[in-house]
Amino acid sequence: QGPPPVTRYNLNKVTVTSDPVRNQEHILILTPMARFYQQYWDNLLHLSYPHELITLGFILPKTKEGNQATSLLQQQIQKTQHGPEKDRFKSIIILRQDFDPAVASQDESERHKLGNQKARREVMAKARNSLLFTTLGPSTSWVLWLDADIVETEPTLIQDLAAFDKPIIVANCFQKYYDPETKKMAERPYDFNSWQDSENALKMAEQMGPDDILLEGYAELATYRTLLAYMSTPGGKQDLVVPLDGVGGTALLVKADVHRDGAMFPAFSFYHLIESEGFAKMAKRLGWQPYGLPNYKVYHYNE
Ligand code: GDP
Ligand code: MN
Repeated sequence: QGPPPVTRYNLNKVTVTSDPVRNQEHILILTPMARFYQQYWDNLLHLSYPHELITLGFILPKTKEGNQATSLLQQQIQKTQHGPEKDRFKSIIILRQDFDPAVASQDESERHKLGNQKARREVMAKARNSLLFTTLGPSTSWVLWLDADIVETEPTLIQDLAAFDKPIIVANCFQKYYDPETKKMAERPYDFNSWQDSENALKMAEQMGPDDILLEGYAELATYRTLLAYMSTPGGKQDLVVPLDGVGGTALLVKADVHRDGAMFPAFSFYHLIESEGFAKMAKRLGWQPYGLPNYKVYHYNE
């Protein structure tokens, strides 16, 4: 009896098509997680993509909150993986991050302070890269980046995004809230990281120091970019698709070959962009065009 045989994978046989269910394509759902929300998990369970083709990957910080989230996550994993067979995922990987979060508090007001952004996005980028490089396998066709606070999507999220057959495609991330004036639930744009570039932003970048980054959604940094968040129209066509220069990572479908080519999340100023916005730029430089869907929405948790 000799040594174990060498396992060969032929990447040419891993298909990436607009009908991934029919072609039994493997997908990796990657989630950096600072907090655990039951609604996130429930939504994940409701995804109609065959669970036996889904691998889940998580990365959590080693803080008190991160420990808490990890144990809540593990409880749900136990329950799901020992429950009905059709609900079980192919495999699940949990990583604990070996660097500290950039901000001590995960409260929204603290997270979104302009002064905290560079350090925060750097940490997010490193977390995403660690997660990606430890989980991407030879049979992975697709990577779905799904934030831990996305609490509502269509059950057909994966099939819907894949149907566009784009190398990178992002849904429009909104948030539901109670409007005290109308006394009704309403929704508003949440993620401003998906955009088309502007002359203004490019000029601002030109005048920046090599380590400086441009951020979106801050009055102090008026970029005049065209934001995916504001491209949606009431009753607008779900299949409207627009090219983008920056993308957010809230619900982002990527063909695995884009990452295999080396497109990752820069934790440094890359063309004055960082993290998911830097990823879009890097992918573009590698020849992969990102797209966004103005009227196809996913919903962010409301704190
Ligand atoms: P925001 O929605 O733009 O305020 O960004 P979030 O704070 O929600 O961060 C995006 C995603 O990364 C969410 O899934 C968070 O749970 C997660 N996250 C935030 N900070 C960290 C961190 O320090 N480490 C890890 N591993 N995940 C984080
Ligand atoms: Mn969030």
